[in-house]
Amino acid sequence: MFSKILIANRGEIALRILRACRELGIKTVAVHSTADEDAMHVRLADEAVCIGPAASRDSYLNVAAILAAATITGAEAIHPGYGFLSENADFAETVEAHGLTFIGPTADHIRMMGDKITAKTTMEALGVPLVPGSDGELKSLEETRAVAEKVGYPVLIKATAGGGGRGMKVAQSASELEEAWSVARTEARTAFGNDAVYLEKYLDKPRHIELQILADNHGNVVHFGERDCSLQRRHQKLLEEAGSPVLSAEQRDAIGRTATDALAKMGYRNAGTLEFLYQDGQFCFIEMNTRLQVEHPVTEMVCDVDLVREQIRIAAGEELGYTQSDISFSGHAIECRINAEDPDTFAPCPGTVAVYHPPGGLGVRVDSALYTGYRVPPYYDSMIAKVIVHAPTRAQAIARMHRALDEFVVEGIKTVIPLHRRILADPEFQKGEYTIHWLEQFTSRPH
Ligand code: ADP
Repeated sequence: MFSKILIANRGEIALRILRACRELGIKTVAVHSTADEDAMHVRLADEAVCIGPAASRDSYLNVAAILAAATITGAEAIHPGYGFLSENADFAETVEAHGLTFIGPTADHIRMMGDKITAKTTMEALGVPLVPGSDGELKSLEETRAVAEKVGYPVLIKATAGGGGRGMKVAQSASELEEAWSVARTEARTAFGNDAVYLEKYLDKPRHIELQILADNHGNVVHFGERDCSLQRRHQKLLEEAGSPVLSAEQRDAIGRTATDALAKMGYRNAGTLEFLYQDGQFCFIEMNTRLQVEHPVTEMVCDVDLVREQIRIAAGEELGYTQSDISFSGHAIECRINAEDPDTFAPCPGTVAVYHPPGGLGVRVDSALYTGYRVPPYYDSMIAKVIVHAPTRAQAIARMHRALDEFVVEGIKTVIPLHRRILADPEFQKGEYTIHWLEQFTSRPH
């Protein structure tokens, strides 16, 4: 096992990793920008190194500074968290080239899944079902038109290098195709430096259901069931549940088998998530995330597992030590992402937290790096906390989340807590009747 790990991240996820390290008896090194000198992850870590100015590209994305920090402090491994360098294959490769362990999959697998066309063709060859669409990159508008006619409108043009919901354009009909194609390509080139695009049928009422996988370096692969992440705004998740209100245990077992078989054949290692759109009883793979996800806590609650601890154990070469039949699912978990944003306009709202009082009690978990007096910097993601609840049934989990959000005091900045309260009180949400389009419609309703 490692004796010291560097955490190449900030905010709640840096704390999440730090806590797992501490329970394993591993010393931690925090890295931070000049804007994060007072951040909680810096205060709680055993050592902290300033790696650059506020802008992420000069600090949290500064590979040379991070490696220097690891070398100076004698860290043996680096956990990238999510976002920043977590899906950067070159970073993973550089870390390993310096004799350190990257806590995650191999650089080759990160690269393979980071290119969505390669990810889809790889998964298809391994027997995973896909959304109907093009066989790969679309080289011309004519080819795009032909594929669109074949799969039927509406269609979605997507960037192979896309992420964070960017580089996607819908064409409702043939008349919109040319614009969608050129806008998607331009956006892809500007945002990702790669204008390769592909096409998928635009599904009208899917749910976003994803599967959590863990694989060790000894060929053992297991899944920890699904998360339903259909509640999204601009393709960004806001509230997640485990399990999905619409999936039976048999359906979970079946897709779980398909996914674990595929990853075993790939020789995948560490944590990964296969994302699917689920409509009319069919799963369609859209992409794989080769890292820990923001919403991992809902899985931890229903499966009673510490996924970060498992990631570290796997990276240290340990065997999982359990099989699929040892994994069971208990009760229901919900996560609300609390963003420092206006709950109606979604404009970011950084500033000083005048009062902070997190909720507690049975079945309530808060993952956050906030404290009273903390100044939320304007430079980074607006997510400032995750409230996670666990209860025997979905109805009880909803009641518990209501209760938790009522207790939650964050003064001085605006947050999306009022929006979460309205969602939880909505009869359609309570019945579990929603698709990926539901939240956008919900937020445009007058209230
Ligand atoms: P990103 O990597 O940018 O997050 P994804 O491929 O994971 O992109 O898609 C993000 C979201 O976009 C999905 O969760 C879903 O809401 C929507 N989406 C993606 N593909 C389709 C599709 N074929 N039909 C309808 N919605 C889609």
